[in-house]
Amino acid sequence: MDSTILDIALEKGLSGAGLSVEEARGFVALPADALYDILAVSEKVRRAHKGVEVNLCAIVNAKSGLCKEDCAFCVQSIRYDTGVMEYPMAEPQALIDAAKEAQGYGAREFSIVTSGTRMEKGKDVDALVETLESMKGAVGVERCASLGILSREVLKRLKDSGLESYHHNIETSRGFFPNICTTHEYDEDVEAIKAAKELGLHVCSGGIFGLGETWEDRIELIQTLKDLGVDSIPINFLNPRPGTPLEHASNLTPVECLKIISLIRLMLPAKEIVVCGGRSLNLRDLQPLIFAAGANGMMVGNYLTTPGRDPLEDLRMLDDLGLKPKGL
Ligand code: SF4
Repeated sequence: MDSTILDIALEKGLSGAGLSVEEARGFVALPADALYDILAVSEKVRRAHKGVEVNLCAIVNAKSGLCKEDCAFCVQSIRYDTGVMEYPMAEPQALIDAAKEAQGYGAREFSIVTSGTRMEKGKDVDALVETLESMKGAVGVERCASLGILSREVLKRLKDSGLESYHHNIETSRGFFPNICTTHEYDEDVEAIKAAKELGLHVCSGGIFGLGETWEDRIELIQTLKDLGVDSIPINFLNPRPGTPLEHASNLTPVECLKIISLIRLMLPAKEIVVCGGRSLNLRDLQPLIFAAGANGMMVGNYLTTPGRDPLEDLRMLDDLGLKPKGL
């Protein structure tokens, strides 16, 4: 086994520099029997930067379905017959209640998520402004939102109303992106991230794995996130949903998921790395190993359109591992 690349990964992980693209290629070429050596290095790097604290985040689907885009993994696209629930923007009180519930089961960050890439209706923005202003002081969670590609004016208005963090995934590499979305450009997503950064928001951006992308695509995605200077990287593993073009995709094993998490930790050693959708389905009984692989956060409660496991099970898993929810 090539231990050199893991020595480099440890050294550059502890220093905060992270693996270069060329070194990352060496990392992904490690043989299957290197898994426990990879986990040992990733665990050391995670602990050095993040200690034993785990960031728990929760989301609410504030506006569901009827999206005009064609993302191949998503049940919310109007182009696919998926039977997903469709509803307009939820009332502010319903969103505030959801935030309080999330805080009750340990979430430190709470994100309001809407379908679609544009916030077209002024009254939807007004509802979000009202929600964010009411949440200040009333709910002890970091206020986050995932609302697609917003104008700088709208984003600034939301920030002025109390928005602290903005989420917008770039999903995959630039080269692979046209295989999963043809209705908007990769650069529009990149610009959305730049706009949020310029406004001084905490920026959360990552992607979804298991779409059929190669390891080279994964390395390119992670390097793009590094270049953009995002603060937090949410990782989703494909949950193939009936009615979507990817309904029969079966591209990931639990060990591959762990190696993806490790790759991100070793390229971006000091960032927040949060395992989100598809965790239970793809990791199965290896879920506790996500922290050894380098994750220091996970989504708790329900995902956007599918149910998650009982948050109490997640809290017990952390306790059993000697880890602590951040802020509790
Ligand atoms: S991922 Fe977002 S933009 Fe793409 S189809 Fe789903 S809701 Fe629409």
